[in-house]
Amino acid sequence: MCIFCKIVNGEIPNNTVHESDHFLAFHDLYPKAPIHILIIPKQHVDCFQDVSPEMMADMTPFIQEVATKVGIDKTGYRLITNNGDDGGQEIKHLHFHMLGGGKLIWNHQ
Ligand code: 5GP
Repeated sequence: MCIFCKIVNGEIPNNTVHESDHFLAFHDLYPKAPIHILIIPKQHVDCFQDVSPEMMADMTPFIQEVATKVGIDKTGYRLITNNGDDGGQEIKHLHFHMLGGGKLIWNHQ
């Protein structure tokens, strides 16, 4: 079982920000910005390339709710998903990184 499935099952603790029946948002263990949240579907999907349009449609308002909940919906944030090995995806369970809490600089690497 992958590490994020273990988080969903409660086998690995997490710092939950927001939760619904189908999605979970929690703080990244190694934050790369003042606010760094990971947003995942509870159902295992390997990566963005495999996600269904239906799941993305459901996930969109959840992601927006996360931003509102932590107070960065107006100030702005960056939303990233690393897809596959060349994309730098280390954990093969679809997740979006929500980064904010300050002015971000772009890093191409
Ligand atoms: P990826 O490189 O797959 O796009 O991102 C994986 C992210 O998961 C990284 O930002 C990393 O810091 C985070 N991470 C890895 N292990 C854990 C963990 O056990 N708990 C939490 N909350 N984040 C983790």
